[in-house]
Amino acid sequence: MITAGVDIGSSSSKVVILQDGANILSKVVIPVGTGTSGPTRSFEQALGEANLERKNIDWIIATGYGRNNFIAADQQLSEISCHARGVFYLLPEVGTIIDIGGQDAKAIKVGPKGTVVNFFMNDKCAAGTGRFLDVMSRVLEVDVSALADLGAQAEQEASISSTCTVFAESEVISQMARGTRREDVAAGVIRSVVRRVVGLANRVGIQPQVVMTGGVSLNWLVVKFMQEELGTTVRVAPDAQLTGALGAALIAYSTHGKNVAARQAT
Ligand code: ADP
Repeated sequence: MITAGVDIGSSSSKVVILQDGANILSKVVIPVGTGTSGPTRSFEQALGEANLERKNIDWIIATGYGRNNFIAADQQLSEISCHARGVFYLLPEVGTIIDIGGQDAKAIKVGPKGTVVNFFMNDKCAAGTGRFLDVMSRVLEVDVSALADLGAQAEQEASISSTCTVFAESEVISQMARGTRREDVAAGVIRSVVRRVVGLANRVGIQPQVVMTGGVSLNWLVVKFMQEELGTTVRVAPDAQLTGALGAALIAYSTHGKNVAARQAT
C-alpha cells in the first residue's frame, strides 16, 4: 500500500511518500507554503522522484496550516497528531516535542505509545517563531540559515527587551545604529525566540526526551540555547522539517491499510 503525507505550512511545503508504512519512496521540502505553488510542486516532485502518479497513491493525508486547500488529499488531519506520530516513529523515547515553524510554535507532550497527552500552541504572535528570526535576519543582513554561525561569534549577547516583533525590530535597528556588534544582536535575537518557546514548553511540562522539529531546529544555536534554558538534552529529529508529513503518511497507512487491502481483495 502506498500512502502520502502532505504538510502545508505557512513557510514551506513538505511531502513524504511511503510504501507499506515503512519504506520512504520520496521526501521533498519546498521553501514556500500555503497560498503558493509550493504544495502542488512539492507533491508533483515527490511523485516524480518515486516514479508514481496520483492514481498509484492509496491514501493521502494533508496536514499543516494550509491542509484544507490541498484538494488532492483524501483526508485532512491536525499537525499535532501528525508530528507526534512522525517523531515517535523515528525516536520512540520522545517525551516532549518542540516544533518551531514559520509562523507558529508548538509544545507537545507525547505518551508512551506516541499519543498526544497535551499540547500548547502559539499561532497568534510572531515572537517565538521562525518569522521573528526571518525579520531580524533581514535587519542583520544575513541569510536565516547563517544566523546561528553569526550569533555563535557573540562576545556580549545583546538583550532584546521587546516581545513584540514589530517593536523588537525597531529595537534591533537602534542597537545596530548605536554600534552594537551584529554577532551580539544575532545571539540576543535567538535567545529571545528560545525564551518565548521555553515559556510555552513549560506550560505542557517538560518530559524527557525533548525533541525539536520544524525549520527553526535547523538553527543549531537555537538548539544549544534551548538546552541551556531547559537544562536538559535536546535532540533534533532526523529530517526535522518532514516529521509532520511522515506522521501523516504513517497514519494514512495504519488507519486505511486494512480498508484498501479489503477493497483490493474484492
Ligand atoms: P512551516 O511548517 O510553518 O511552514 P517550517 O517548519 O518549514 O515552517 O519552518 C520555517 C522557518 O524555519 C523559517 O521561517 C526559518 O526561520 C527557519 N528555517 C528554514 N530553513 C532554515 C535553515 N536552513 N536554517 C535555519 N533556519 C531555517
